[in-house]
Amino acid sequence: MDFKRNIIITGGAGFIGSHVVRLFVSKYPDYRIVNVDKLTYAGNLENLRDVEREPNYVFVRADICDYERMSHLMREYRADGVIHLAAESHVDRSIRDPFTFARTNVLGTLALLEAARVYWESCGEGYDGKLFYHISTDEVYGALEMTRPQGIEPPFSTSASSGEHHSAYGEEFFSETTRYNPHSPYSASKASSDHFVRAYHDTYGMPVIVTNCSNNYGPYQFPEKLIPLFINNIRNRKPLPVYGKGENVRDWLYVEDHARAIDTIFHRGKVAETYNIGGFNEWKNIDIVRVLIRTADRLLGNPEGYSDDLITYVSDRKGHDLRYAIDSRKLQRELGWEPSLQFEEGIEKTVRWYLENQAWLENISSGKYQKYCDNAYGKR
Ligand code: NAD
Repeated sequence: MDFKRNIIITGGAGFIGSHVVRLFVSKYPDYRIVNVDKLTYAGNLENLRDVEREPNYVFVRADICDYERMSHLMREYRADGVIHLAAESHVDRSIRDPFTFARTNVLGTLALLEAARVYWESCGEGYDGKLFYHISTDEVYGALEMTRPQGIEPPFSTSASSGEHHSAYGEEFFSETTRYNPHSPYSASKASSDHFVRAYHDTYGMPVIVTNCSNNYGPYQFPEKLIPLFINNIRNRKPLPVYGKGENVRDWLYVEDHARAIDTIFHRGKVAETYNIGGFNEWKNIDIVRVLIRTADRLLGNPEGYSDDLITYVSDRKGHDLRYAIDSRKLQRELGWEPSLQFEEGIEKTVRWYLENQAWLENISSGKYQKYCDNAYGKR
């Protein structure tokens, strides 16, 4: 069957990638979606059970660092688009094991870029109709000051639709022109990969787009990250370890809204541009924990305040950035994208999903799923 487009999505078995794959497979039946994923501890094909049999979906287990393999896949699937999400993504792991982050995030991105460049140049049509879309994080920008830290009650959020941008925590935001200033090995590796992607445009004329997004939340996130970890711990009456005093502020976006933004930008974004993606939705970590407790206790039928005593303050993360806040008005203004969900609604959906999908959590946490993948697809 001839497809209108052939798109390689890397990291499609991960948290955000699986939502992007699901959206593209179901919304564009005339596109072939090739999910290229190494299936590390964070990759889980169970995230894609509902689309795995679709005729326009292909899964390939491969390591993006393997240049020969990436070149082969570009040719085999005649890829005209790459949406690159594969990465090592957990800051705490990057502090313990920075080399793995440099390998996958920097060298892996470079291998993929070079494979795309060589293949696209060999097609003899120039770069027409091609796009390398690189997904990155707001953490590359470093940290913002908390200039208004006291005495403001939730919801803390900024106004998306009015075009104005306010925050309960400070006057500054990350814009697309904010200077990079990464502080963790994770953000340093992502910053480096962003620079490589832009350099491929400036040097070879390759059509690229980079987006930098704030913290995502929603179903299918590996339970080492704050929201799924804490929901699971509340359910199992385990401690909720909060770094420092829980004062750090992050902007949160529902993962399906990120996937919609990626769809919009992939189709209508301007080549060589950067777009920031955010939820206009800043929260202190400790306030997120309280919302999670309140929501989970209610859904579990526990009395109000039942899980408050699970909060345990632990030593702060090394180099912990105080505040991230994203200004995504360019994306709103130029491409008309806005977050669709209010935070309360998104959190309710998310807590409910994790509580109702215990088998998913147990399989991924116990490594049972990894064993199944190794049998089905060969060891990494
Ligand atoms: P994730 O850790 O859930 O998933 C990463 C996926 O990449 C996994 O499926 C894993 O198997 C795969 N992978 C890792 N190394 C690979 C390799 N060498 N070759 C092929 N596949 C490999 O990550 P996520 O949270 O879904 O993040 C996806 C992307 O979005 C990352 O690039 C991340 O930097 C970026 N991002 C994440 C967030 C967030 O809040 N999670 C926010 C902004 C940007």
